[in-house]
Amino acid sequence: MTNAYKIIDHTYDVVIVGAGGAGLRATLGMAAQGLSTACITKVFPTRSHTVAAQGGMSASLGNMGDDHWNWHMYDTIKGSDWLGDQDAIEYMCREAVPAVIELEHFGVPFSRTEEGKIYQRPFGGMTTNFGEGTAERTCAAADRTGHAILHTLYQQSIKHHAEFYIEHFAIDLIMVDGECKGVISLDLATGELHRYQAHMVVLATGGCGRTYFSATSAHTCTGDGNAMVLRAGLPLQDMEFVQFHPTGIYGAGVLITEGVRGEGGYLTNNEGERFMERYAPNAKDLASRDVVSRSMTMEINGGRGVGPDNDHCFLNLMHLGNDVIEKRLPGISESARIFAGVDVNKEPIPVLPTVHYNMGGIPTNYHGEVVTLKDGDPDTVVPGLMAIGEAACVSVHGANRLGSNSLLDIVVFGRAAALRAAELIKPGSAHKPLTEEDSAPILEHLDRIRSAKGSTGTAQIRDNMQRTMQKHAAVFRTGESLEEGLVKMRDIVDSFDDVRVDDPNLIWNTDLVETLELENLLCQAQTIIYGANNRTESRGAHARDDFEERNDDTWMKHTLAWTDEKANVSIDYRPVHMYTLTDECEVIPPKTRVY
Ligand SMILES: Cc1cc2nc3c(=O)[nH]c(=O)nc-3n(C[C@H](O)[C@H](O)[C@H](O)COP(=O)(O)OP(=O)(O)OC[C@H]3O[C@@H](n4cnc5c(N)ncnc54)[C@H](O)[C@@H]3O)c2cc1C
Repeated sequence: MTNAYKIIDHTYDVVIVGAGGAGLRATLGMAAQGLSTACITKVFPTRSHTVAAQGGMSASLGNMGDDHWNWHMYDTIKGSDWLGDQDAIEYMCREAVPAVIELEHFGVPFSRTEEGKIYQRPFGGMTTNFGEGTAERTCAAADRTGHAILHTLYQQSIKHHAEFYIEHFAIDLIMVDGECKGVISLDLATGELHRYQAHMVVLATGGCGRTYFSATSAHTCTGDGNAMVLRAGLPLQDMEFVQFHPTGIYGAGVLITEGVRGEGGYLTNNEGERFMERYAPNAKDLASRDVVSRSMTMEINGGRGVGPDNDHCFLNLMHLGNDVIEKRLPGISESARIFAGVDVNKEPIPVLPTVHYNMGGIPTNYHGEVVTLKDGDPDTVVPGLMAIGEAACVSVHGANRLGSNSLLDIVVFGRAAALRAAELIKPGSAHKPLTEEDSAPILEHLDRIRSAKGSTGTAQIRDNMQRTMQKHAAVFRTGESLEEGLVKMRDIVDSFDDVRVDDPNLIWNTDLVETLELENLLCQAQTIIYGANNRTESRGAHARDDFEERNDDTWMKHTLAWTDEKANVSIDYRPVHMYTLTDECEVIPPKTRVY
């Protein structure tokens, strides 16, 4: 059966899977250093989720006031709630300044100050002088920073003659004796399979926000690279750490900025009550993101949510008046109209705490090389495999990411991966031929899913998973609810054995692709909810009602999670790197939490 597939073979020095900011920065860097470079992407490069990033990218340029990379490093470690690796954080904060200047030279149209310098805005958690003042550190191209960066990097990649395989869905890694030798993709337009042999495969496949019902990330954010790593018998790291934003549009998940509440908007429950007054009497609706998200979840879990299923809240701005809405919140009015069918002058916006970012991912060192725990060594490099961007856990964000540190992460570590690949690979060096058996399991897997003739539709299983994760592995977690979620997830994972793919074609078969993506999401959802149940403390975005304190004695360590073919999870740990690369900065010891 599997030899019925037509396969087109390619050899390259390096293959990058993903054309978001991380993938494109690596692609251009590798191509520019003379490596034959292919980039595979399931969506057109400039449609990757990076395009949606608005706020900006952090770097201590000091254009708008005093700043220093040491202060940026301090904020990032504190923001990570001491789960970030301090060597990687030092590398990122130090490299941030040249990375922004380099982007400027590549052509990113940053906004400017009066004197013509790159404009920088303040962002949450970014301080001067180790927490004393407010830093203006986030470099912005208006409110379209991700868009500007992504387009520029794509143009640069083409300039350096990288080859693109666009609308190709990467299915799995070709692993031989624990080494990565290449990857197989499905050309969505022709239905042909492509087999790429490479000295290095770089996974830059983004986050897995779509494990949840409500996510600000694109529908394509299904963490395919993470799932490939799990299927290769390698672990994911710190998957329990998922960042929520309080106000995503119910159902669509599209982000509604905090600015709405800044202008005087407020949240209500099904009794019309402004419930934030109860939870945070002073800050009310402008309390910090995690507090508002948790309060909303308490209302919903207490049966006071709005809508037929009592499963969301209302964000009210009608009282602000047409003038304020038109002048200050035009984008939001448009989003509410398009995605919720709501006229914000007359009705409230249905909102829900919404998954925004995955701190966890594929464990790597600060060169982007994938690492695993082997024979007691937690930093064993997996030959031939790198991971960068939101797919990776390098780990610079630890338990919680600061706003504007992700655009920085993708650019800095995309470049780091390119530098490392150029050190390791001689351009044009020979490949040992692959055998048919090396890719046979991948074709069998594809064939099995394609011919799945069960009785449950993909959309049904996905909906069950997303709703279970939203309810049980949410902002606000308790052992009881997590245990219940684990039982439900077991049933949902098992129901995948009964999945049905209706369309047997290979050309533009969205049914097949969505089913492959669902399979990928299911194993990641398992690592998230298992990790959350296992970690009996509160740290960063992981807030347990039954273990409210951070517990450094037991839990200042990274979770590693493996899955078997039935998506059962096993767990081990890696130590947090509490050392720096140079003596130009100090290790920052854990401090008591201030929230
Ligand atoms: C709405 C929103 C606003 C944000 N705003 C900011 C901000 O202002 N500042 C900030 O720092 N961060 C922000 N973030 C976070 C940041 O934008 C992302 O974390 C970052 O852009 C991720 O980049 P990436 O390159 O890792 O992945 P992505 O941009 O998600 O790209 C993933 C790539 O992988 C490809 N891919 C995936 N699976 C496959 C497969 N199976 N086969 C082939 N290709 C595949 C896709 O085609 C795509 O090209 C925001 C995020 C969102 C959702």
